[in-house]
Amino acid sequence: MTEARQPEPAWPDSCAGDGHGGRLLRLDEARERIIADVVPVTEREVVSLRDALGRVLASAVHSTVDVPSHRSSAMDGYALAGQDLSSSGATAFELVGKSLAGRPFAGRVGRGQCVRIMTGAPVPEATDTVIMQEQVRVDGDRVVIEAGQRVGQHVRPVGEDIHRGDLAIGAGTLLHPAQLGLLAAVGVGQVPVVRRVRVATFSTGDELRPVGESLALGQIYDSNRYSLYGMLARLGLEVIDLGVVPDTREDTIRAFEAAATRADAIVSSGGVSVGEADYVTETLERHGRIGFWKVAIKPGKPIAFGRFGPAYFFGLPGNPVAVMVTFYQLVQPALRALMGAVHPDPPILVRATCETWLRKAPGRMEFQRGVLERQPSGTCTVRSSGHQGSGVLHSMSKANCFIVLPLEGGDVEPGTEVEVQPFAGLV
Ligand code: AMP
Ligand code: MG
Repeated sequence: MTEARQPEPAWPDSCAGDGHGGRLLRLDEARERIIADVVPVTEREVVSLRDALGRVLASAVHSTVDVPSHRSSAMDGYALAGQDLSSSGATAFELVGKSLAGRPFAGRVGRGQCVRIMTGAPVPEATDTVIMQEQVRVDGDRVVIEAGQRVGQHVRPVGEDIHRGDLAIGAGTLLHPAQLGLLAAVGVGQVPVVRRVRVATFSTGDELRPVGESLALGQIYDSNRYSLYGMLARLGLEVIDLGVVPDTREDTIRAFEAAATRADAIVSSGGVSVGEADYVTETLERHGRIGFWKVAIKPGKPIAFGRFGPAYFFGLPGNPVAVMVTFYQLVQPALRALMGAVHPDPPILVRATCETWLRKAPGRMEFQRGVLERQPSGTCTVRSSGHQGSGVLHSMSKANCFIVLPLEGGDVEPGTEVEVQPFAGLV
């Protein structure tokens, strides 16, 4: 079982069904309501640095060291005291040793003396300036330096990157490669992270067969199971796959119960319309709490969100593209919030000129699948990636972006500017 952490949902019972005045919810309203309802997981664990990739930092990390911890050279060259340079012409220095990264110069540098120095090496005491090796003439232990140098140049100060005591990374940060590197730079090898969120999934539908079996008339392979697995696994979640659930009331309730005892969240596909064999919404309504189930987007209008026992529930439509659109637009931000990520990444939109006709009826925001390209001129163009049916995964797999068409808009003519959500950064 998951921990008890369910205050009353932010939504009233009265918005069960599509009881929000019969109006479809706008996507941003739906997203806000879901995020407002999600109480982040707070249990934590400590993992090694590599295992922290993709996890959420549970508490802030302050640096216990200065990075770098010594004044270091930003160039390969010669370290000297800037005051020894002549302001009018060339100056000759005596070479007295070298300082390499990890092997500092042990001696003392006196007046008129210099030290060979490499990038990252400690700048010796009594020196404060590095001359690039390309700008000197070396003759035995005599180093001649031309005029035109700036005192203090090419020296990285102590703590240039981060100072001891400074905040390195805030709590709730999703740990990407840069943060892993920064944690290492400040000497943190054991990282406090939020425990992994567990998500149970199941597909509903009597027509579904697992891959590997043969298909009888009317049957199809369960593809949602795999696209859902991919989307969940890439978020760094622990995925509990409960397989295919037959279209009966009893099987649906059983699946909900099995999922809720093991997971923080449940994501199902299919069975959320009002067809004869659609038991998901009914089960959530009767045995859990339902938030809403119609959002003004296409594909993906019927989607159920609510609670079942201690778990959050997301009932996605059955159509394979609708599953992916509703997941990325609604479920992913909610799961990020559940993971304790403080700023679930807002979707990034770019503008592009549409090259193809796009069919659209006003009334719902549409996520069409497109191919975004940067032209040699520097402008971006986008075109439809193919048939836009909500069950057509082929156009989804050929796409590299969603073309986001606003709720009230109609058909899009070639040459029109549209907004595009690149998959890079999203998936
Ligand atoms: P439903 O929402 O259950 O009415 O399903 C809508 C459409 O999506 C139907 O054509 C289903 O056959 C199809 N579908 C439902 N679940 C899946 C699945 N797991 N994999 C592939 N197609 C599915
Ligand atoms: Mg179905």
